[in-house]
Amino acid sequence: MLTKEEIGGLQSEILRLKNEMNAILLVHNYQRPEIQDIADYIGDSLGLSIKASKAEGEVIVFCGVDFMAQSAKILSPEKTVLHPNTLAQCPMAAMIDVEGLKQLKEENPGAAVVSYVNTTADVKAESDVCCTSGNAVKVVRSLQENKVIFTPDTNLGLYVKRYVQDKEFVLWPGYCYTHVKIYPREIERLRKEHPGAVVMVHPECPPETIDAADHTLSTEGMVMLARKSDAKEFIVGTEKELSYRLKKENPDKEFYPPVGAVCPHMKYINLPDILSSLENMQPEVDLPPEILKGARRPLERMIEIGRGD
Ligand code: 13P
Ligand code: SF4
Repeated sequence: MLTKEEIGGLQSEILRLKNEMNAILLVHNYQRPEIQDIADYIGDSLGLSIKASKAEGEVIVFCGVDFMAQSAKILSPEKTVLHPNTLAQCPMAAMIDVEGLKQLKEENPGAAVVSYVNTTADVKAESDVCCTSGNAVKVVRSLQENKVIFTPDTNLGLYVKRYVQDKEFVLWPGYCYTHVKIYPREIERLRKEHPGAVVMVHPECPPETIDAADHTLSTEGMVMLARKSDAKEFIVGTEKELSYRLKKENPDKEFYPPVGAVCPHMKYINLPDILSSLENMQPEVDLPPEILKGARRPLERMIEIGRGD
């Protein structure tokens, strides 16, 4: 464990080097508090993709899991994108591979392929359009096709299906280890402890948990709701670190994450990793040119469609 002084020293050194190298620090809402505190931009997958596509400067330091850093590279291929710890990989993204997707496409000719951004770049390149939890319903609604292959998160696909009843869905059986363990009984326990609290959950949660909530939102959607709501207490059905940002931005409100809602993969990145990545200009995200090119259009389509929450 780093002391407060060590944390402060590392933060100052990162900020100094970042300016020297004309770098921008993009940080996902699930990153450690001491990383959130030095972000140039903090947000959800959609917000981070939009920011990466417009980023100035020569270097992006991406603090999030692998698929997010890859998306930044795809959207800004001329920039150096550093991913400070390559062990930060999303297991859901590893639940689908190109061969499996190609087979599904063969079995469902004419179906549109919508891939959640939680996929590897080669799977994106085989997809028609990407989406995030912040615009999945809007993306699927925008399609002409009547049949949709939705990959890889079944729970997000089932959530979209509730709102898009005129299309047929083929769902890939992927899931998030962190969100599938947010059970309705934990939401009910928190509601009993904090009667009157507004319940927000992420669409990667099981359908029964979504049924037990007041709102289903992306992490940035939760930030926006907490900001504009008059409520003073919120149950936050997603990874615990979002509650750090929520409390920092709304000091007069209270936020309660479910017990055990931790994404260990997001936590691989720490301050010494970030400093080392800036000192050595690595690990750098590197993708084959044909994958970079193929994955760009589905991501750009997603950004053009914009936020849906
Ligand atoms: P958001 O895009 O809502 O931040 O979600 C990303 C993610 O990985 C959720 O587990
Ligand atoms: Fe992947 Fe789940 Fe972690 Fe999000 S919370 S990065 S989906 S493992």
